[in-house]
Amino acid sequence: MPPQRTNTVVQAAPSSISPPHHSGCGTRVAGSHTRKREGFTVIELLVVIAIVGTLAAILLPALSRARERARQVTCMGNLRHIGTALTMYANQYQDRLPITETSTSPPNQGTNKIWVPAGAEPMQPVGLGCLIDDFLARDVRVLGCPSSLYADPGTVESKWQVPRNQRGIIECAYVYRATSAGAPVKFYEYSKAENVVGGESVGVGAVVMDYNVESAKKHNHGGSVIHVLKADLGSVVSIPGEEAKDLILQDESAAEHDRAFIAADKALKLR
Ligand SMILES: [Zn+2]
Repeated sequence: MPPQRTNTVVQAAPSSISPPHHSGCGTRVAGSHTRKREGFTVIELLVVIAIVGTLAAILLPALSRARERARQVTCMGNLRHIGTALTMYANQYQDRLPITETSTSPPNQGTNKIWVPAGAEPMQPVGLGCLIDDFLARDVRVLGCPSSLYADPGTVESKWQVPRNQRGIIECAYVYRATSAGAPVKFYEYSKAENVVGGESVGVGAVVMDYNVESAKKHNHGGSVIHVLKADLGSVVSIPGEEAKDLILQDESAAEHDRAFIAADKALKLR
């Protein structure tokens, strides 16, 4: 008779080999002196931070310049769009351009207002605001400069979306050379008018440009470059550097508008 098998659990006898001793200092591999790395040393961390900092210092200004360049391209596109809209307006209204809210004499003064509610009944848009409904396909964002501190496309759009009878004065990012409310300037006069300053004929070169006013802290592109729509209503010129400074208004007086537009005319004549 074969011996009967039992399912008795046999307890292992205590081994003579000692179990690994946990001293709390990590597991050591027998015969090895290497130790498992658990993180960066302080020096390594500082080196990484220094490298990241250096890269950021190199890349961020370049990135910022690229973004500003993109805004300038958009701004010049806006002015071309405005030029096309002004041409269409002139075709529709017997060669006349939109009037502004001022009663001052053309051609040197200007306005960046596109809506003036005070005393106007029925309320009407003024200046470049006259283009919005019929010639800019109601895309008022075209009248905002993406690099403006006071009239970026979103700001202009949100002000324009307020119901007509509740709108306050709305400014856009561009100054439009004023035409008199009493005698609207004809389209062709922009390119032919003699603009005599101090006995010197400078012609009329600039019709619309980036609006920068030092005292009011209104700046497009930080004032470092100013884009100008020429009197042919088709060409847009970028005026940078020292020349652009001459086109910045010190305040919003009529005299400063005069001076800045004449400076723009002179700058364009040199190109
Ligand atoms: Zn601009």
